[in-house]
Amino acid sequence: MVRYVVQVGDEVLRTKCAEVKKFDAELGKLMDDLKQTVRAENGAGLAAPQVGVPLRAVVVDVEEGFFEMINPVILSSKGEQSGPEGCLSVKGKQGTVTRPYRVKAEYRDRFGRKHKLTAEGFFARAVCHELDHLDGIIYTDIADEVYDLPEED
Ligand SMILES: [Zn+2]
Repeated sequence: MVRYVVQVGDEVLRTKCAEVKKFDAELGKLMDDLKQTVRAENGAGLAAPQVGVPLRAVVVDVEEGFFEMINPVILSSKGEQSGPEGCLSVKGKQGTVTRPYRVKAEYRDRFGRKHKLTAEGFFARAVCHELDHLDGIIYTDIADEVYDLPEED
């Protein structure tokens, strides 16, 4: 099910999200919905609070693949990159954000199994952006500049 993506100003986007404790069918449904919603919205990632659920769960959809990350933690980061970023919860805007160039992260899948990944470039940017959502951080908080995008028809 494609869910409504909450917009900036909604309190849930400023919540420090809770760890997922139950790896059950309800979590599976949330992860399926996040996938459908991010694809319907043509995004690179989506975090559970963006659909109104204050849990530590995100999806990242990039060239390298589709990743479901539950209770994700950044283990290490390296380097620096600066580039444009947008957010499905901040429609019509983009900003320049500086992020690590490479990150290593650990997370669980919907079945509770542990995984690790190393992300670089845009993939690393997407992981950092989505993980920030779990602590109530929106990219506009840390952007060097934020600007309006031309209106879409
Ligand atoms: Zn976002």
